[in-house]
Amino acid sequence: MRNVLSERARQAQPSPTLALTAQAQALRRQGVDVLSFTAGEPDFDTPDFAKTGALEAIHAGYTKYTPTPGILPLREAISEKFEHENGLRYAPDQIVVSCGAKHSLFSVFMAILDPGDEVIIPTPCWVSYPEQVKLMGATPVFVPTDETTDFLPSYDALRQAITTRTKAIVLNTPCNPTGAVFGRQQLKEIASLALTHDLWIVADEIYEHLTYDDYRHESIGALSKEVLNRTITVNGVSKSFAMTGWRIGYLGAPSEVAGAVSRLQDQMTSNACTVAQHAALAALQNANSEWYAFVRTLFDRRRQLLVDGLRSIDGLHCWTPRGAFYVYVNVQGLIGRRYNGRALESSADVAGFLLNEARVATVPGEGFCAPGYVRFSYTSSEAIIQAGVERIAEAVSRLD
Ligand code: PMP
Ligand code: GLU
Repeated sequence: MRNVLSERARQAQPSPTLALTAQAQALRRQGVDVLSFTAGEPDFDTPDFAKTGALEAIHAGYTKYTPTPGILPLREAISEKFEHENGLRYAPDQIVVSCGAKHSLFSVFMAILDPGDEVIIPTPCWVSYPEQVKLMGATPVFVPTDETTDFLPSYDALRQAITTRTKAIVLNTPCNPTGAVFGRQQLKEIASLALTHDLWIVADEIYEHLTYDDYRHESIGALSKEVLNRTITVNGVSKSFAMTGWRIGYLGAPSEVAGAVSRLQDQMTSNACTVAQHAALAALQNANSEWYAFVRTLFDRRRQLLVDGLRSIDGLHCWTPRGAFYVYVNVQGLIGRRYNGRALESSADVAGFLLNEARVATVPGEGFCAPGYVRFSYTSSEAIIQAGVERIAEAVSRLD
């Protein structure tokens, strides 16, 4: 057999965020005292109100298949959530529940992209968008940003990236890995480009509840009915409810797209786990402003601790994130400095140096299509953040 694997499988890259998280865990199992800043997942437990939903579902015998797009009460709850929290009107039959927002995004790209299509992705971007787009035979077109524009793409840069092949634009606000939050003006600009050039907006809003200072999340689809008709809104319970392992994501989309995603899911996964759907339903039904304030306050304290700590280290430049739970640290000031007789040549080298010399695990910017930076997740305790900063300061002080 000439090619054991398909071209698609040969092209598929592992997720660097997952790989580095696993590497840090493996080192810890071997007894190496590694402090991990890799994982994009809350360190606290799923709230009891969500767990109760799952336990009750098990006892009530909700352990069978459900309709592929999800149980109706969950789709109704999501429809209400979209309307009340986001100003988005998606009817329950325009909602598809999946095995995680990552799964929803994959299905969306499969539903809207043909080989040769182009998708605009502002960078730095989350690791999976370009890989998923490429798996559809389509081409990611990057629009780079940096801290001088608060990691927000300009209207002109976006417009210049549009060609006759452009099918969609990815909007991730609050953004992983930068923590940028798109304001009303940027949303209007993106919406006007989508309307003028007949593009889909794929809005990934999974970090919507994690915004700090005076920044608040706004949904692009809430701008107008015309914009909503072009917007596929992806969300999930992983980040807002510390439910990463339950694997429940969802999307709201115009009926044609929601129907296509549901048909594709029919052939891929059928429904998402029934018990987990009931847990997600309980999470959404019991979510209140106290829970969201608890999560926001917890991460906000960690954010300030990490940003202040890293800023005090010579060679690190740290833009203050406005949302999500990551700091995207500019490490260009360390490039060219030497340890063990060897110069640090890239952000991947810097992340390697931090792991080997400070026993601090991070994800280098190469995976986010924006080298020169290293991503720190502040989903671990204040004690770990403090210890991590001390270790990094000590290791950096040993650089020539
Ligand atoms: N989008 C972004 C920006 C993320 O950071 C994540 C985290 N993995 C996801 C989507 C997927 O989340 P999940 O599949 O756990 O719902
Ligand atoms: N979104 C998280 C992260 O960026 C989880 C890992 C992943 O799914 O890529 O770290």
